[in-house]
Amino acid sequence: MTATSTPQPADIKFNPKKCSLDKDTNELTSNYTYENIVFDENNQFDTISTNYKFKVDLSKPKSLGILLVGLGGNNGSTLFSTVKCLQNNISFHNGKFNTTKEPLYGSMTQCSTIKLGVDAQGNDVFVPFKDILPMMDPSNFIVHGWDINNSNMAEAIERSQVLQYDLIQNLKPFVEKTRPMPSIYYPDFIALNQNDRVNNISNSTQDPQKWQDLQRIRNDIKTFKHENHLDQVIVLWTANTERCVEIIPGINDTSENIMAAIKNNHQEISPSNIFAIASILEGAPYINGSPQNTFVPGIIELAESRNVLIAGDDLKTGQTKLKSVMMQYLVDAGIKPVSIASYNHLGNNDGKNLSSHAQFRSKEISKASVIDDCIDSNKILYPDIELKEKDNHVDHCIVIKYVPAVGDSKVAMDEYYSELMLGGHNRISIHNVCEDSLLATPIIIDLLVMTEFFSRIKYTKVVDGIESTDFNEFYPILTFLSYWLKAPLTRSGFKPINSLNRQRLALENFLRLLIGLPANDELRFEERLV
Ligand code: NAD
Repeated sequence: MTATSTPQPADIKFNPKKCSLDKDTNELTSNYTYENIVFDENNQFDTISTNYKFKVDLSKPKSLGILLVGLGGNNGSTLFSTVKCLQNNISFHNGKFNTTKEPLYGSMTQCSTIKLGVDAQGNDVFVPFKDILPMMDPSNFIVHGWDINNSNMAEAIERSQVLQYDLIQNLKPFVEKTRPMPSIYYPDFIALNQNDRVNNISNSTQDPQKWQDLQRIRNDIKTFKHENHLDQVIVLWTANTERCVEIIPGINDTSENIMAAIKNNHQEISPSNIFAIASILEGAPYINGSPQNTFVPGIIELAESRNVLIAGDDLKTGQTKLKSVMMQYLVDAGIKPVSIASYNHLGNNDGKNLSSHAQFRSKEISKASVIDDCIDSNKILYPDIELKEKDNHVDHCIVIKYVPAVGDSKVAMDEYYSELMLGGHNRISIHNVCEDSLLATPIIIDLLVMTEFFSRIKYTKVVDGIESTDFNEFYPILTFLSYWLKAPLTRSGFKPINSLNRQRLALENFLRLLIGLPANDELRFEERLV
Protein backbone atom coordinates (compact mmCIF):
# COMPACT_ATOMS: atom_id res chain seq x y z
CA MET A 1 0.00 0.00 0.00
CA THR A 2 1.51 3.37 -0.94
CA ALA A 3 0.47 6.89 -0.04
CA THR A 4 -0.56 7.71 -3.62
CA SER A 5 -1.83 4.66 -5.46
CA THR A 6 -5.30 3.19 -5.32
CA PRO A 7 -4.71 -0.50 -4.50
CA GLN A 8 -5.92 -3.30 -6.68
CA PRO A 9 -7.06 -6.36 -4.75
CA ALA A 10 -3.62 -7.94 -5.03
CA ASP A 11 -2.16 -4.96 -3.13
CA ILE A 12 -4.42 -5.33 -0.12
CA LYS A 13 -2.40 -5.82 3.04
CA PHE A 14 -4.06 -7.81 5.77
CA ASN A 15 -3.16 -9.71 8.91
CA PRO A 16 -2.93 -13.38 7.81
CA LYS A 17 -3.50 -14.57 11.41
CA LYS A 18 -7.01 -13.10 11.33
CA CYS A 19 -7.86 -12.94 7.63
CA SER A 20 -7.92 -15.08 4.52
CA LEU A 21 -8.33 -14.13 0.88
CA ASP A 22 -10.40 -16.33 -1.41
CA LYS A 23 -8.77 -15.79 -4.80
CA ASP A 24 -11.69 -17.36 -6.69
CA THR A 25 -14.35 -15.10 -5.26
CA ASN A 26 -11.99 -12.22 -4.47
CA GLU A 27 -13.41 -11.99 -0.97
CA LEU A 28 -11.43 -11.13 2.12
CA THR A 29 -12.69 -12.78 5.29
CA SER A 30 -11.67 -11.60 8.75
CA ASN A 31 -12.36 -12.98 12.22
CA TYR A 32 -13.22 -10.56 14.96
CA THR A 33 -14.19 -10.95 18.59
CA TYR A 34 -16.50 -8.14 19.63
CA GLU A 35 -16.27 -7.38 23.35
CA ASN A 36 -18.39 -5.03 25.41
CA ILE A 37 -19.22 -4.37 29.05
CA VAL A 38 -22.88 -4.78 29.95
CA PHE A 39 -24.36 -3.39 33.17
CA ASP A 40 -27.45 -4.81 34.79
CA GLU A 41 -30.11 -2.89 36.73
CA ASN A 42 -28.05 -3.31 39.96
CA ASN A 43 -25.05 -1.68 38.29
CA GLN A 44 -23.15 -4.97 38.20
CA PHE A 45 -21.27 -5.55 34.99
CA ASP A 46 -20.22 -8.44 32.87
CA THR A 47 -18.12 -8.66 29.73
CA ILE A 48 -19.80 -10.09 26.68
CA SER A 49 -17.84 -11.38 23.76
CA THR A 50 -19.17 -12.47 20.38
CA ASN A 51 -17.19 -13.95 17.52
CA TYR A 52 -17.93 -12.70 14.03
CA LYS A 53 -16.66 -13.40 10.55
CA PHE A 54 -16.77 -10.44 8.15
CA LYS A 55 -16.48 -10.86 4.42
CA VAL A 56 -15.61 -7.99 2.04
CA ASP A 57 -16.02 -8.40 -1.68
CA LEU A 58 -12.84 -6.76 -2.99
CA SER A 59 -14.25 -6.32 -6.51
CA LYS A 60 -15.72 -2.85 -6.64
CA PRO A 61 -18.03 -2.08 -9.56
CA LYS A 62 -16.60 -0.34 -12.64
CA SER A 63 -19.17 2.45 -12.30
CA LEU A 64 -21.62 3.48 -9.63
CA GLY A 65 -24.92 5.10 -10.57
CA ILE A 66 -25.90 8.15 -8.57
CA LEU A 67 -29.36 9.67 -8.82
CA LEU A 68 -29.76 13.00 -7.06
CA VAL A 69 -33.13 14.45 -6.20
CA GLY A 70 -32.43 18.17 -6.66
CA LEU A 71 -29.76 17.74 -9.36
CA GLY A 72 -30.06 21.38 -10.48
CA GLY A 73 -29.55 22.86 -7.01
CA ASN A 74 -26.33 24.16 -5.49
CA ASN A 75 -25.22 20.83 -4.03
CA GLY A 76 -26.53 18.76 -6.95
CA SER A 77 -24.89 20.87 -9.66
CA THR A 78 -21.63 21.11 -7.69
CA LEU A 79 -21.41 17.33 -7.30
CA PHE A 80 -22.25 16.85 -10.98
CA SER A 81 -19.53 19.36 -11.96
CA THR A 82 -16.96 17.82 -9.63
CA VAL A 83 -17.41 14.41 -11.24
CA LYS A 84 -17.19 15.94 -14.75
CA CYS A 85 -13.95 17.73 -13.73
CA LEU A 86 -12.46 14.46 -12.55
CA GLN A 87 -13.61 12.49 -15.59
CA ASN A 88 -12.40 15.05 -18.13
CA ASN A 89 -9.34 16.33 -16.32
CA ILE A 90 -10.71 19.87 -16.35
CA SER A 91 -8.44 22.49 -14.83
CA PHE A 92 -9.13 26.18 -14.28
CA HIS A 93 -7.56 29.52 -13.48
CA ASN A 94 -8.00 29.98 -9.76
CA GLY A 95 -8.22 33.75 -9.03
CA LYS A 96 -4.97 35.52 -9.78
CA PHE A 97 -2.91 32.40 -9.38
CA ASN A 98 -2.06 29.61 -11.77
CA THR A 99 -4.19 26.93 -13.33
CA THR A 100 -4.82 24.21 -10.80
CA LYS A 101 -6.45 20.88 -10.31
CA GLU A 102 -7.79 20.72 -6.82
CA PRO A 103 -7.90 17.61 -4.62
CA LEU A 104 -11.27 16.88 -3.04
CA TYR A 105 -10.57 18.76 0.18
CA GLY A 106 -13.30 18.21 2.74
CA SER A 107 -13.83 14.59 1.77
CA MET A 108 -12.78 12.20 4.54
CA THR A 109 -12.61 9.22 2.19
CA GLN A 110 -10.49 11.06 -0.39
CA CYS A 111 -8.28 13.32 1.72
CA SER A 112 -7.87 11.89 5.20
CA THR A 113 -5.61 9.20 6.61
CA ILE A 114 -5.94 6.49 9.24
CA LYS A 115 -3.28 5.41 11.69
CA LEU A 116 -2.45 1.74 11.17
CA GLY A 117 0.40 1.25 13.64
CA VAL A 118 3.92 2.39 14.47
CA ASP A 119 7.32 1.95 12.81
CA ALA A 120 10.42 0.46 14.44
CA GLN A 121 11.12 3.79 16.16
CA GLY A 122 7.60 4.00 17.56
CA ASN A 123 6.47 6.71 15.13
CA ASP A 124 2.86 6.51 13.95
CA VAL A 125 2.25 5.14 10.45
CA PHE A 126 -0.73 6.55 8.53
CA VAL A 127 -2.27 5.44 5.23
CA PRO A 128 -4.93 7.11 3.09
CA PHE A 129 -8.44 6.20 4.23
CA LYS A 130 -9.34 5.13 0.67
CA ASP A 131 -6.35 2.80 0.35
CA ILE A 132 -7.17 0.41 3.18
CA LEU A 133 -9.65 -1.57 1.09
CA PRO A 134 -10.98 -0.98 -2.45
CA MET A 135 -13.45 1.90 -2.53
CA MET A 136 -15.16 3.64 -5.43
CA ASP A 137 -13.26 6.49 -7.03
CA PRO A 138 -15.68 9.43 -7.56
CA SER A 139 -14.46 9.67 -11.16
CA ASN A 140 -16.34 6.40 -11.70
CA PHE A 141 -19.66 7.87 -10.60
CA ILE A 142 -22.34 8.22 -13.28
CA VAL A 143 -24.49 11.07 -12.03
CA HIS A 144 -27.99 12.07 -13.07
CA GLY A 145 -31.18 13.01 -11.27
CA TRP A 146 -34.42 14.92 -11.06
CA ASP A 147 -35.28 18.55 -10.49
CA ILE A 148 -38.53 20.51 -10.52
CA ASN A 149 -36.67 23.10 -12.61
CA ASN A 150 -35.61 22.29 -16.16
CA SER A 151 -32.41 24.36 -16.44
CA ASN A 152 -29.58 22.45 -18.04
CA MET A 153 -26.52 21.85 -15.91
CA ALA A 154 -24.57 24.76 -17.41
CA GLU A 155 -27.42 27.11 -16.48
CA ALA A 156 -27.67 25.42 -13.08
CA ILE A 157 -24.01 25.98 -12.16
CA GLU A 158 -24.21 29.61 -13.31
CA ARG A 159 -27.32 30.14 -11.19
CA SER A 160 -25.74 28.48 -8.15
CA GLN A 161 -22.78 30.90 -8.01
CA VAL A 162 -20.64 28.33 -6.26
CA LEU A 163 -17.88 27.68 -8.80
CA GLN A 164 -15.35 30.17 -10.12
CA TYR A 165 -16.09 31.89 -13.44
CA ASP A 166 -13.20 30.26 -15.27
CA LEU A 167 -14.18 26.80 -14.10
CA ILE A 168 -17.79 27.35 -15.19
CA GLN A 169 -16.63 28.34 -18.70
CA ASN A 170 -14.39 25.27 -18.96
CA LEU A 171 -17.13 22.99 -17.68
CA LYS A 172 -19.93 24.23 -19.94
CA PRO A 173 -19.23 21.99 -22.97
CA PHE A 174 -19.23 18.94 -20.67
CA VAL A 175 -22.43 19.70 -18.76
CA GLU A 176 -24.78 21.74 -20.95
CA LYS A 177 -26.36 18.73 -22.64
CA THR A 178 -27.65 17.31 -19.35
CA ARG A 179 -31.07 18.36 -18.09
CA PRO A 180 -32.62 16.94 -14.90
CA MET A 181 -35.47 14.45 -15.31
CA PRO A 182 -38.93 15.84 -14.47
CA SER A 183 -39.72 15.40 -10.79
CA ILE A 184 -42.78 15.39 -8.60
CA TYR A 185 -44.03 18.45 -6.77
CA TYR A 186 -46.68 18.62 -4.07
CA PRO A 187 -46.82 22.35 -3.35
CA ASP A 188 -47.23 22.45 0.41
CA PHE A 189 -44.04 20.52 1.26
CA ILE A 190 -41.39 23.06 0.25
CA ALA A 191 -41.68 26.82 0.74
CA LEU A 192 -44.16 28.70 -1.42
CA ASN A 193 -41.29 30.98 -2.45
CA GLN A 194 -39.98 28.07 -4.60
CA ASN A 195 -43.06 28.18 -6.86
CA ASP A 196 -41.38 30.20 -9.60
CA ARG A 197 -38.77 27.42 -10.04
CA VAL A 198 -41.37 24.81 -10.93
CA ASN A 199 -41.38 24.05 -14.68
CA ASN A 200 -40.22 20.43 -14.84
CA ILE A 201 -42.72 18.12 -13.15
CA SER A 202 -44.43 14.95 -14.23
CA ASN A 203 -47.48 15.22 -11.97
CA SER A 204 -50.54 17.41 -11.95
CA THR A 205 -50.65 19.66 -8.89
CA GLN A 206 -54.47 19.95 -9.21
CA ASP A 207 -55.20 16.25 -9.48
CA PRO A 208 -52.44 14.30 -7.68
CA GLN A 209 -52.00 10.65 -8.64
CA LYS A 210 -49.37 9.61 -6.12
CA TRP A 211 -49.42 5.91 -7.02
CA GLN A 212 -48.59 6.83 -10.65
CA ASP A 213 -45.85 9.17 -9.42
CA LEU A 214 -44.31 6.26 -7.53
CA GLN A 215 -44.37 4.06 -10.64
CA ARG A 216 -42.78 6.83 -12.74
CA ILE A 217 -39.88 7.32 -10.32
CA ARG A 218 -39.34 3.54 -10.11
CA ASN A 219 -39.26 3.48 -13.88
CA ASP A 220 -36.71 6.32 -14.01
CA ILE A 221 -34.41 4.37 -11.68
CA LYS A 222 -34.81 1.17 -13.72
CA THR A 223 -34.16 2.95 -17.03
CA PHE A 224 -31.09 4.80 -15.72
CA LYS A 225 -29.67 1.54 -14.42
CA HIS A 226 -30.36 -0.31 -17.65
CA GLU A 227 -29.14 2.40 -20.05
CA ASN A 228 -25.87 2.84 -18.19
CA HIS A 229 -25.30 -0.90 -17.59
CA LEU A 230 -25.09 -0.37 -13.84
CA ASP A 231 -25.13 -2.98 -11.11
CA GLN A 232 -25.88 -0.51 -8.40
CA VAL A 233 -27.63 2.85 -8.09
CA ILE A 234 -27.76 5.02 -4.98
CA VAL A 235 -30.45 7.70 -4.65
CA LEU A 236 -29.70 10.78 -2.54
CA TRP A 237 -32.12 13.58 -1.67
CA THR A 238 -30.43 16.97 -1.97
CA ALA A 239 -33.57 18.82 -2.96
CA ASN A 240 -35.13 21.58 -0.87
CA THR A 241 -35.90 20.93 2.77
CA GLU A 242 -39.52 19.84 3.08
CA ARG A 243 -41.78 20.44 6.03
CA CYS A 244 -41.99 17.41 8.29
CA VAL A 245 -44.87 15.02 7.72
CA GLU A 246 -47.27 14.13 10.49
CA ILE A 247 -46.94 10.55 11.72
CA ILE A 248 -50.49 9.23 11.56
CA PRO A 249 -51.52 5.77 12.74
CA GLY A 250 -53.11 3.93 9.84
CA ILE A 251 -51.41 6.17 7.24
CA ASN A 252 -47.62 6.03 7.46
CA ASP A 253 -46.97 3.83 10.50
CA THR A 254 -46.56 0.51 8.64
CA SER A 255 -45.33 -0.37 5.17
CA GLU A 256 -48.74 -1.73 4.25
CA ASN A 257 -50.50 1.42 5.43
CA ILE A 258 -48.18 3.79 3.61
CA MET A 259 -48.62 1.92 0.31
CA ALA A 260 -52.40 2.19 0.76
CA ALA A 261 -52.05 5.89 1.63
CA ILE A 262 -50.15 6.48 -1.62
CA LYS A 263 -52.94 4.80 -3.58
CA ASN A 264 -55.42 7.06 -1.77
CA ASN A 265 -53.41 10.23 -2.51
CA HIS A 266 -53.17 11.01 1.18
CA GLN A 267 -52.09 14.58 1.95
CA GLU A 268 -49.26 13.51 4.28
CA ILE A 269 -47.37 11.60 1.56
CA SER A 270 -44.50 13.89 0.61
CA PRO A 271 -42.37 13.84 -2.56
CA SER A 272 -39.43 12.56 -0.50
CA ASN A 273 -41.62 9.68 0.78
CA ILE A 274 -42.27 8.73 -2.83
CA PHE A 275 -38.57 8.87 -3.77
CA ALA A 276 -37.53 6.82 -0.72
CA ILE A 277 -40.16 4.15 -1.39
CA ALA A 278 -39.35 4.00 -5.12
CA SER A 279 -35.65 3.52 -4.29
CA ILE A 280 -36.29 0.81 -1.72
CA LEU A 281 -38.60 -1.05 -4.09
CA GLU A 282 -35.90 -0.87 -6.77
CA GLY A 283 -33.25 -2.13 -4.31
CA ALA A 284 -31.38 1.19 -4.45
CA PRO A 285 -29.95 2.53 -1.16
CA TYR A 286 -31.57 5.88 -0.27
CA ILE A 287 -29.84 8.69 1.64
CA ASN A 288 -31.69 11.70 2.99
CA GLY A 289 -29.37 14.73 2.81
CA SER A 290 -32.03 17.11 4.16
CA PRO A 291 -33.60 17.41 7.60
CA GLN A 292 -37.23 16.42 6.97
CA ASN A 293 -38.57 13.20 8.52
CA THR A 294 -38.84 11.24 5.27
CA PHE A 295 -38.16 7.98 7.10
CA VAL A 296 -41.54 7.51 8.73
CA PRO A 297 -42.08 4.15 10.47
CA GLY A 298 -43.76 2.65 7.38
CA ILE A 299 -40.71 3.41 5.20
CA ILE A 300 -38.28 2.02 7.78
CA GLU A 301 -40.38 -1.15 7.89
CA LEU A 302 -40.26 -1.38 4.10
CA ALA A 303 -36.45 -0.99 4.08
CA GLU A 304 -36.21 -3.70 6.75
CA SER A 305 -38.39 -6.12 4.83
CA ARG A 306 -36.53 -5.50 1.54
CA ASN A 307 -33.09 -5.31 3.19
CA VAL A 308 -32.19 -2.06 1.43
CA LEU A 309 -29.73 0.37 3.03
CA ILE A 310 -31.08 3.74 4.14
CA ALA A 311 -29.42 6.63 5.99
CA GLY A 312 -30.23 10.17 7.09
CA ASP A 313 -30.99 12.84 8.05
CA ASP A 314 -29.38 16.07 6.84
CA LEU A 315 -25.76 16.59 5.88
CA LYS A 316 -23.45 17.41 8.79
CA THR A 317 -21.35 20.13 7.21
CA GLY A 318 -19.96 23.17 9.06
CA GLN A 319 -21.64 24.60 12.10
CA THR A 320 -23.17 21.36 13.35
CA LYS A 321 -19.98 19.39 12.79
CA LEU A 322 -18.03 21.91 14.85
CA LYS A 323 -20.75 21.88 17.49
CA SER A 324 -20.46 18.13 17.92
CA VAL A 325 -16.70 18.58 18.43
CA MET A 326 -16.93 21.63 20.73
CA MET A 327 -19.59 20.08 22.94
CA GLN A 328 -17.55 16.94 23.39
CA TYR A 329 -14.40 18.93 24.13
CA LEU A 330 -16.15 21.03 26.80
CA VAL A 331 -18.07 18.20 28.45
CA ASP A 332 -15.11 15.78 28.37
CA ALA A 333 -12.95 18.52 29.91
CA GLY A 334 -15.46 18.74 32.77
CA ILE A 335 -16.52 22.27 31.73
CA LYS A 336 -20.26 22.83 31.81
CA PRO A 337 -21.84 24.49 28.74
CA VAL A 338 -25.01 26.28 29.82
CA SER A 339 -25.96 27.96 26.55
CA ILE A 340 -25.21 27.70 22.86
CA ALA A 341 -26.48 30.44 20.60
CA SER A 342 -26.12 29.68 16.88
CA TYR A 343 -26.82 32.25 14.19
CA ASN A 344 -26.63 31.60 10.46
CA HIS A 345 -27.22 33.80 7.51
CA LEU A 346 -27.02 32.63 3.95
CA GLY A 347 -28.14 33.91 0.58
CA ASN A 348 -28.55 30.83 -1.57
CA ASN A 349 -31.79 29.12 -2.57
CA ASP A 350 -31.56 26.82 0.48
CA GLY A 351 -31.62 29.96 2.65
CA LYS A 352 -34.63 31.27 0.72
CA ASN A 353 -36.53 28.02 1.26
CA LEU A 354 -35.58 27.97 4.97
CA SER A 355 -36.95 31.49 5.43
CA SER A 356 -40.37 29.82 5.51
CA HIS A 357 -41.37 28.68 9.00
CA ALA A 358 -42.39 25.04 8.39
CA GLN A 359 -39.16 24.26 6.50
CA PHE A 360 -37.02 26.14 9.07
CA ARG A 361 -38.65 24.01 11.76
CA SER A 362 -37.36 20.79 10.07
CA LYS A 363 -33.85 22.29 10.11
CA GLU A 364 -34.16 23.52 13.69
CA ILE A 365 -35.08 20.03 14.89
CA SER A 366 -32.13 18.38 13.12
CA LYS A 367 -29.67 21.03 14.33
CA ALA A 368 -30.91 20.95 17.94
CA SER A 369 -30.47 17.23 18.57
CA VAL A 370 -26.71 17.29 18.01
CA ILE A 371 -25.81 17.98 21.66
CA ASP A 372 -28.11 15.40 23.25
CA ASP A 373 -25.67 12.50 23.54
CA CYS A 374 -23.01 14.70 25.15
CA ILE A 375 -25.43 16.00 27.78
CA ASP A 376 -26.61 12.48 28.43
CA SER A 377 -23.04 11.22 28.93
CA ASN A 378 -22.20 13.31 31.99
CA LYS A 379 -24.40 13.13 35.07
CA ILE A 380 -21.91 15.20 37.09
CA LEU A 381 -22.51 18.22 34.86
CA TYR A 382 -26.16 17.46 34.03
CA PRO A 383 -27.54 15.40 36.93
CA ASP A 384 -31.00 14.80 35.53
CA ILE A 385 -31.75 16.10 32.09
CA GLU A 386 -35.34 14.93 32.34
CA LEU A 387 -36.08 17.76 34.79
CA LYS A 388 -35.27 20.40 32.14
CA GLU A 389 -34.51 22.88 34.92
CA LYS A 390 -31.91 25.60 34.61
CA ASP A 391 -29.08 23.50 36.02
CA ASN A 392 -29.84 20.44 34.02
CA HIS A 393 -29.84 21.42 30.39
CA VAL A 394 -28.21 23.68 27.79
CA ASP A 395 -30.14 26.69 26.45
CA HIS A 396 -29.75 26.00 22.76
CA CYS A 397 -30.96 28.67 20.36
CA ILE A 398 -30.82 28.38 16.57
CA VAL A 399 -31.48 31.25 14.17
CA ILE A 400 -31.31 31.14 10.36
CA LYS A 401 -31.80 34.27 8.26
CA TYR A 402 -31.94 34.67 4.49
CA VAL A 403 -29.55 37.39 3.30
CA PRO A 404 -29.40 37.19 -0.54
CA ALA A 405 -26.29 39.39 -0.80
CA VAL A 406 -23.96 36.75 0.70
CA GLY A 407 -25.00 34.07 -1.82
CA ASP A 408 -23.59 30.61 -1.12
CA SER A 409 -21.09 32.00 1.42
CA LYS A 410 -22.85 30.97 4.59
CA VAL A 411 -22.00 32.84 7.77
CA ALA A 412 -22.22 30.93 11.04
CA MET A 413 -21.73 32.62 14.42
CA ASP A 414 -21.82 30.53 17.55
CA GLU A 415 -21.39 31.44 21.18
CA TYR A 416 -20.65 28.70 23.71
CA TYR A 417 -21.20 29.97 27.24
CA SER A 418 -20.00 27.64 29.99
CA GLU A 419 -19.58 27.56 33.73
CA LEU A 420 -16.13 27.19 35.29
CA MET A 421 -15.20 26.46 38.90
CA LEU A 422 -15.69 29.04 41.68
CA GLY A 423 -18.37 30.96 39.78
CA GLY A 424 -16.27 31.68 36.70
CA HIS A 425 -17.50 31.65 33.10
CA ASN A 426 -15.99 30.75 29.76
CA ARG A 427 -17.33 32.32 26.56
CA ILE A 428 -16.12 30.99 23.22
CA SER A 429 -17.28 32.81 20.07
CA ILE A 430 -16.79 31.32 16.63
CA HIS A 431 -17.26 33.11 13.33
CA ASN A 432 -17.12 30.88 10.28
CA VAL A 433 -17.66 31.87 6.64
CA CYS A 434 -17.45 29.42 3.76
CA GLU A 435 -19.11 28.25 0.55
CA ASP A 436 -21.88 26.05 1.85
CA SER A 437 -21.99 23.76 -1.17
CA LEU A 438 -18.22 23.23 -1.18
CA LEU A 439 -18.57 21.80 2.32
CA ALA A 440 -21.61 19.71 1.41
CA THR A 441 -20.37 18.20 -1.87
CA PRO A 442 -17.38 16.27 -0.43
CA ILE A 443 -19.68 14.98 2.28
CA ILE A 444 -22.10 13.71 -0.35
CA ILE A 445 -19.14 12.00 -2.06
CA ASP A 446 -18.20 10.29 1.21
CA LEU A 447 -21.76 9.13 1.83
CA LEU A 448 -21.90 7.60 -1.64
CA VAL A 449 -18.46 5.98 -1.48
CA MET A 450 -19.16 4.48 1.93
CA THR A 451 -22.68 3.28 1.10
CA GLU A 452 -21.32 1.36 -1.88
CA PHE A 453 -18.44 0.04 0.26
CA PHE A 454 -20.77 -1.19 3.05
CA SER A 455 -22.98 -2.90 0.48
CA ARG A 456 -20.03 -5.22 -0.32
CA ILE A 457 -19.68 -6.43 3.29
CA LYS A 458 -21.44 -9.38 4.87
CA TYR A 459 -21.05 -11.04 8.26
CA THR A 460 -21.95 -14.14 10.21
CA LYS A 461 -21.81 -15.06 13.90
CA VAL A 462 -19.56 -17.89 15.05
CA VAL A 463 -21.10 -19.79 17.97
CA ASP A 464 -19.06 -22.48 19.77
CA GLY A 465 -16.64 -22.53 16.86
CA ILE A 466 -19.42 -23.19 14.36
CA GLU A 467 -20.06 -20.49 11.81
CA SER A 468 -23.36 -20.23 10.03
CA THR A 469 -23.08 -20.58 6.27
CA ASP A 470 -25.61 -17.79 5.89
CA PHE A 471 -23.89 -14.44 5.74
CA ASN A 472 -26.04 -11.41 6.59
CA GLU A 473 -26.07 -7.88 5.29
CA PHE A 474 -26.04 -4.90 7.64
CA TYR A 475 -29.20 -3.85 9.41
CA PRO A 476 -30.72 -1.44 6.83
CA ILE A 477 -30.32 1.80 8.83
CA LEU A 478 -26.64 2.34 8.13
CA THR A 479 -25.56 4.30 11.21
CA PHE A 480 -21.89 3.91 10.26
CA LEU A 481 -22.67 6.92 8.03
CA SER A 482 -23.65 9.14 10.98
CA TYR A 483 -20.27 10.92 10.81
CA TRP A 484 -21.69 12.79 7.81
CA LEU A 485 -25.25 13.25 9.08
CA LYS A 486 -26.61 15.92 11.36
CA ALA A 487 -29.48 14.00 12.98
CA PRO A 488 -28.55 10.34 12.53
CA LEU A 489 -31.49 8.08 11.85
CA THR A 490 -31.10 5.28 14.39
CA ARG A 491 -32.47 1.80 14.88
CA SER A 492 -35.54 1.69 17.10
CA GLY A 493 -34.51 1.28 20.75
CA PHE A 494 -31.09 2.94 20.32
CA LYS A 495 -30.06 6.55 20.89
CA PRO A 496 -28.17 8.43 18.16
CA ILE A 497 -24.45 9.08 18.54
CA ASN A 498 -23.62 12.64 17.49
CA SER A 499 -20.08 13.00 18.80
CA LEU A 500 -17.81 13.33 15.77
CA ASN A 501 -14.88 11.57 17.46
CA ARG A 502 -16.97 8.57 18.42
CA GLN A 503 -18.44 8.38 14.93
CA ARG A 504 -14.99 8.48 13.31
CA LEU A 505 -13.58 5.95 15.79
CA ALA A 506 -16.27 3.46 14.78
CA LEU A 507 -15.39 3.85 11.09
CA GLU A 508 -11.64 3.58 11.69
CA ASN A 509 -11.89 0.53 13.89
CA PHE A 510 -14.30 -1.18 11.53
CA LEU A 511 -11.90 -0.70 8.59
CA ARG A 512 -9.08 -2.01 10.78
CA LEU A 513 -10.95 -5.14 11.81
CA LEU A 514 -11.76 -5.92 8.19
CA ILE A 515 -8.02 -6.30 7.53
CA GLY A 516 -7.47 -8.18 10.78
CA LEU A 517 -6.11 -5.37 12.97
CA PRO A 518 -7.17 -4.73 16.57
CA ALA A 519 -9.03 -1.53 17.52
CA ASN A 520 -6.84 1.53 17.88
CA ASP A 521 -6.43 2.22 21.60
CA GLU A 522 -3.61 4.83 21.72
CA LEU A 523 -2.03 3.09 24.74
CA ARG A 524 1.50 3.67 23.30
CA PHE A 525 3.17 1.23 25.65
CA GLU A 526 6.37 1.40 23.54
CA GLU A 527 6.85 4.84 25.02
CA ARG A 528 5.08 4.62 28.36
CA LEU A 529 6.33 1.37 29.86
CA VAL A 530 9.97 0.67 30.74
P1 NAD B 1 -30.85 24.33 -3.50
O1 NAD B 1 -32.09 25.07 -3.17
O2 NAD B 1 -29.78 25.04 -4.24
O3 NAD B 1 -31.20 23.03 -4.35
C1 NAD B 1 -32.35 22.30 -4.15
C2 NAD B 1 -32.86 21.84 -5.53
O4 NAD B 1 -33.94 20.97 -5.31
C3 NAD B 1 -33.39 22.99 -6.38
O5 NAD B 1 -32.78 22.96 -7.64
C4 NAD B 1 -34.89 22.71 -6.48
O6 NAD B 1 -35.42 23.11 -7.71
C5 NAD B 1 -34.91 21.20 -6.30
N1 NAD B 1 -36.16 20.59 -5.82
C6 NAD B 1 -37.04 21.02 -4.88
N2 NAD B 1 -38.04 20.12 -4.73
C7 NAD B 1 -37.77 19.09 -5.56
C8 NAD B 1 -38.41 17.87 -5.85
N3 NAD B 1 -39.56 17.53 -5.27
N4 NAD B 1 -37.84 17.06 -6.76
C9 NAD B 1 -36.68 17.38 -7.38
N5 NAD B 1 -36.05 18.54 -7.16
C10 NAD B 1 -36.58 19.39 -6.26
O7 NAD B 1 -30.32 23.74 -2.12
P2 NAD B 1 -28.87 23.17 -1.77
O8 NAD B 1 -28.03 24.27 -1.21
O9 NAD B 1 -28.36 22.38 -2.89
O10 NAD B 1 -29.24 22.23 -0.54
C11 NAD B 1 -30.00 21.06 -0.78
C12 NAD B 1 -30.48 20.45 0.52
O11 NAD B 1 -29.35 20.04 1.27
C13 NAD B 1 -31.31 21.38 1.40
O12 NAD B 1 -32.35 20.69 1.99
C14 NAD B 1 -30.33 21.78 2.46
O13 NAD B 1 -30.95 22.15 3.67
C15 NAD B 1 -29.53 20.50 2.59
N6 NAD B 1 -28.24 20.74 3.23
C16 NAD B 1 -27.31 21.55 2.67
C17 NAD B 1 -26.10 21.78 3.32
C18 NAD B 1 -25.02 22.63 2.74
O14 NAD B 1 -24.04 22.89 3.41
N7 NAD B 1 -25.11 23.04 1.51
C19 NAD B 1 -25.89 21.21 4.57
C20 NAD B 1 -26.85 20.39 5.10
C21 NAD B 1 -28.01 20.15 4.42
